[in-house]
Amino acid sequence: MRIARFNNNRLGVVEGSQIYDVSEALELLPEARYPFPTHDILIENLPKIQLELAKLRPKATSLPVADVTFLSPVANPSKIVAAPVNYRKHLDEAIADEKTFSRAHVREIHETGLFLKATSALIGASSPVLIRHTDRRTDHEVELVAIIGRTCSRVAADEAMNYVAGYSVGLDISVRGPEERSFRKSVDTYAVLGPWLVTSDELDDPSGLQLSIDVNGEVRQSANTRDLILDVAHLIEFASSFYTLLPGDILFTGTPEGVGPIRPGDRMCAKIDRIGELNVPVEAASGKIVAAA
Ligand code: MN
Repeated sequence: MRIARFNNNRLGVVEGSQIYDVSEALELLPEARYPFPTHDILIENLPKIQLELAKLRPKATSLPVADVTFLSPVANPSKIVAAPVNYRKHLDEAIADEKTFSRAHVREIHETGLFLKATSALIGASSPVLIRHTDRRTDHEVELVAIIGRTCSRVAADEAMNYVAGYSVGLDISVRGPEERSFRKSVDTYAVLGPWLVTSDELDDPSGLQLSIDVNGEVRQSANTRDLILDVAHLIEFASSFYTLLPGDILFTGTPEGVGPIRPGDRMCAKIDRIGELNVPVEAASGKIVAAA
């Protein structure tokens, strides 16, 4: 099943070019009061919600996918976990380009470990990426993303796939430079997720998926998830050996070779087999500082 959040926090099931409004299923979620859960309650309750979606779908009204605004399929992740260089050829290109990739950051994933992106960087498929540092190189990175469905800690790779709720297409937008990854990759709008979540009962094996991105029609990255150094199961084992993964946690699995710069005015089109496609414009962030009222 392809589950989307769209327009004004509506919940949808996507089939072909139509999205069916099944927001009534949200009534099943527990009412939360302060202190609010620190994980995503929709993803936590997904097995129950999915049954309800199947019941609501035949009577649901639909809209063309092209006419809706997609939000991030996860509203409230506790964390965005991300893998640094996790494809061999991307490691090689990073080693070869010392000017762009800081030497201190380019090592095997086993040594580097994982990093976190700020949850405030997260946007859905219908929002533009807003470049803040137009004077610095900012790159696209297309990535397979796994969404954690159930709490797990110290889970072994051979059991890890039982904890996955589903998959999305992700863009790990990155400013190049000497700072820590978590800083350079946490700019507002630099974590794009969508356009929907494909549940793990529909997509049970994420290895062997073709993924690609083009910018203004020019192919920049084209690879296959079979070439991941640590696959989804081993990434979950690695991450959960350090911290507990919670329902709705987002796992960016790393980008293949071919990363390159984006600039305001560009349009990115990222695709992963059996999941979907992101069509995202790049704009310059406006200069004004917005303070909370
Ligand atoms: Mn990345």
